[in-house]
Amino acid sequence: MNDAIQTDSLALHRSLLTLDSHIDIPWPTGPGPFEDGRRCVDLPKMQRGGLWVGCFVAYVPQAARTPETESAAFARALAMLQTINTMGRTEAGITARITSSVAAIEAARRDRVLAVVPAVENGFAMGTDLSRLARFRALGARYLTLTHNGHNALADSCNPRPDLHDAPEEHGGLSALGRAAVAELNKLGMMVDVAHVSRASMLQAAEVSRTPIVSTHSCIKALCDHPRNMDDQQLDALRDVGGVIQITAVASFLKKDAKADQVTAADFADHVDYAVQRIGLEQVGISSDFDGGGGFAGWMSAADSANITAELLRRGYDRGALAALWGGNFLRVMRIAEEKAG
Ligand SMILES: [Zn+2]
Repeated sequence: MNDAIQTDSLALHRSLLTLDSHIDIPWPTGPGPFEDGRRCVDLPKMQRGGLWVGCFVAYVPQAARTPETESAAFARALAMLQTINTMGRTEAGITARITSSVAAIEAARRDRVLAVVPAVENGFAMGTDLSRLARFRALGARYLTLTHNGHNALADSCNPRPDLHDAPEEHGGLSALGRAAVAELNKLGMMVDVAHVSRASMLQAAEVSRTPIVSTHSCIKALCDHPRNMDDQQLDALRDVGGVIQITAVASFLKKDAKADQVTAADFADHVDYAVQRIGLEQVGISSDFDGGGGFAGWMSAADSANITAELLRRGYDRGALAALWGGNFLRVMRIAEEKAG
């Protein structure tokens, strides 16, 4: 790539409303968000890399399901959401704002400040108590990933956990509680995230949810056969409900058994291209899963985000297409979730 293209793509990248739909935080300790440290995503790297909006997740690992572990998971999710909320401040010349509506995200972009969107990863965080979802929403959470690795009370995961005595399938998709949780999420204006769920869970969630479902971090099974990736029928189902798949930067989802240094922005863009050709530009977006396993040669931190824009530009995506991929499509689903809430 010559310098002129590089300069142009960087300028164009910075002018977009760029959103990464899935970022983990260090827990319980680690470098702070305003420190330019060893996290893949901190606020200085977001600013340097022209990444305006990040969905930061309160992630709870799956454990054996007992009332005690469920209470502990709920407490952890609340504490993590509270920590994410403390990112909304000004420090070292950088301002970040907690945003939990599309209007707030757009206002932050207009004001040229970084936007933090809280979210929760793993429905295990609510245990079997639906009222806990409102507590997450009250702390700004805009989506719930229904499962992580391992089945929970809501749904089957695409990665059953033999160490937790998971059968290949437990509920045959969503449980009755899972269906009620989807209805409650719809009521609260939280998006239903189907990353990590089984194929049956995903297809059922698409059917049951009153608003389009999203996968905040998954890739394409036709290009890389991995349980976390979506097959063509799943992609079609996502399109049929107006949902979005946020292609993610996890090396082993992008290329079979690959390590981070064996994957490039071209591999990532291949997954974007495939999804766009199969189900349309409006159904595709971008995520990193940084600090949760994401990152490959060329996109190892939020500071390198413009490399993705450069690769997509080279493939013919214009400004409008890049705006859609980098956040426009995800925000469309978020807006529908807001409109249909209540
Ligand atoms: Zn995940």
